[in-house]
Amino acid sequence: MTSHDGKHGRNTRLVHAGRHPDENFGILNPPVYHASTITWPSVERMNEAGRRPFDTWTYGRNGTPTTASFEEAVAEMEGGHRAVATPSGLAAIVQALGAFVSAGDHILVADSVYGPTRKYCDRVLRRFGVETTYYDPLIGGGIAELVRDNTRVIFMESPGSSTFEVQDVPAIAAVARERGIATMIDNTWATPLFFRPIEHGVTVSIHAATKYIVGHSDAMMGVAVCDTRETFDTVKTNAQLHGNSAAPDDLYLAQRGLRTMAVRLRQHQESALAVARWLQGRPEVAHVLYPALPEDPGHALWKRDFDGASGLLGVELHPVSADAVAAMADGMSLFPLGASWGGYESLLLPIDLTPYRTVNRWDGRGPLLRLHIGLEDVQDLIADLEAGFDRLVARARAA
Ligand SMILES: *Cc1c(COP(=O)(O)O)cnc(C)c1O
Repeated sequence: MTSHDGKHGRNTRLVHAGRHPDENFGILNPPVYHASTITWPSVERMNEAGRRPFDTWTYGRNGTPTTASFEEAVAEMEGGHRAVATPSGLAAIVQALGAFVSAGDHILVADSVYGPTRKYCDRVLRRFGVETTYYDPLIGGGIAELVRDNTRVIFMESPGSSTFEVQDVPAIAAVARERGIATMIDNTWATPLFFRPIEHGVTVSIHAATKYIVGHSDAMMGVAVCDTRETFDTVKTNAQLHGNSAAPDDLYLAQRGLRTMAVRLRQHQESALAVARWLQGRPEVAHVLYPALPEDPGHALWKRDFDGASGLLGVELHPVSADAVAAMADGMSLFPLGASWGGYESLLLPIDLTPYRTVNRWDGRGPLLRLHIGLEDVQDLIADLEAGFDRLVARARAA
């Protein structure tokens, strides 16, 4: 059975995409090929493979049917032409960005991007003569004013890392298309289930599959979904030249995670919304940053473009000492301090934006917490947060 015919719903396609049991003794899941050398029976077949390196198997580093199975599944869910799997989410960002720029070029990057994306621009691309301008993520079509003759890429992330600004992706993509500029987006928060940027004119949609796609905090994986064959060849060539190779067991875990992602996300969304509403009623909280809330400044755009919200949100506290925040964070029982979200578990992380914003600075605002709402019972999560706020208030009073 193929799920490519467009007749099936998204849940059905998520279950079937990229799997070919008919080619594998009827076994439901794709085999995990461990490979370095790939051999040929003749010079003719070897040369033939060399002429179509991305459509056949040439060398373990360049991928195997295990790679193809995962790439095909994600590309289908995104509505892209083809995808490139990479050993981490950051690798997917770096390979996509690097594929489109040369010395003397200029790129526009949202001020709210994932911190390491920014470090790659500032520390690596700069050394290679590529200049980055950070822009206000809420700029929308106004991005046209920042475009220069040598602008090659506009990079987005929506909602933004830690601050959750929702970008007007169709407006930015339209400006870029008119001028022949590539657009890229870090779509990790929404997953292909809740936002499909390629349908809105974006060139490359990137995921840290490490997060919701893998879904169990046990593997690193990235994927860059490309709109056309030409984009795919450009990104895949760059990834190949840099020696990127996603490992077979991790690819297997990522495709396995995909199969249950829809049900997991439904629960993440329901619980995150319940926790977000509860947080809105807390006296310690100034703002809850979560686009699914009608009060969120990004709500209208989110409602227009997205099909759902995942389980990651921000909490801006009323001004309070770092010591009081630590008293809350240190004593949590269900929210350990941790960075990589998207697994089944809840997490809490105090965020210091100082090194990560040059346009939309956080100056004068209260401490920022990032919460990942996992699959635990929501009343247990709320009770843990309530006890945390009690510790925060007690420490603030004692000072
Ligand atoms: C985690 C994350 C990444 C990086 O993914 P890794 O697999 O950890 O390299 C990129 N973008 C966003 C938004 C992330 O949250």
